[in-house]
Amino acid sequence: MNEQLQLLIALQKIDSTILAARRDVDLMPLRLTEREAALKKAEALYAQAEKTAEEALQKKHDKEREISETNDRIEKLKKRSSEIKKNTEYQAHLAELERVEADIKTLDAALITLSEQVNRAHQEAAEAKKRIAVEQEGISAEREGIAAEAAEKEAEIKRLKIERKKIVAKLEPDVNDHYMLLMRACRGVAVAEARDEVCQGCCIHIPPQLFVEIKSGDAIETCPQCRRILYYVRPDAEASNGNVANSCRQNTGE
Ligand SMILES: [Zn+2]
Repeated sequence: MNEQLQLLIALQKIDSTILAARRDVDLMPLRLTEREAALKKAEALYAQAEKTAEEALQKKHDKEREISETNDRIEKLKKRSSEIKKNTEYQAHLAELERVEADIKTLDAALITLSEQVNRAHQEAAEAKKRIAVEQEGISAEREGIAAEAAEKEAEIKRLKIERKKIVAKLEPDVNDHYMLLMRACRGVAVAEARDEVCQGCCIHIPPQLFVEIKSGDAIETCPQCRRILYYVRPDAEASNGNVANSCRQNTGE
């Protein structure tokens, strides 16, 4: 095979790997989005539970004051009992005492309900607080994981760039210029496989005569439609060698 073509295939492999690694690094922060949303939800639940607890507690204090005032009233009514001489007045007095004592029962029941509300809200706040801690921990662990993975990818990119330089040094300048032009124009895929007479860059059918020339690998041939540099992989070489990762399925939207 033409030496320059071989170099171009190797260069494309490296550039595709670099581009994929870059894309991976760029997408890494997205992994935090879900956890950050869960944290925000837990924080909102906590704030709501705290507010509910505070309001219920205020109502509970009001109710306790009301109960205390009503108890004072009962005491006063009881003290007055011995001072009342007239029977009709006494009956009215007893009726009032009974009514106020009934009020106390209602107030006590309301106080129990409010106490339960306060407890429930405190419990909800405590659970939300735990959830916040879990999410915060998860986020910081994820951040550490992302930083480590990104550092690994950056190291790989650095290594590949050194490899790249070695290949570019062997490329004829105009071949390199042609490659770089295609890289920019064809979204990072300048070199594509010609498989079964089909350009794997744009899926067009390659004319038979051109396919024969591509198969020979003697010169740098390009796709009549997408202009990508084409190469052929012999079926027996494919398994051992591998090829540049591009196919019609991966490169739609030409
Ligand atoms: Zn093409």
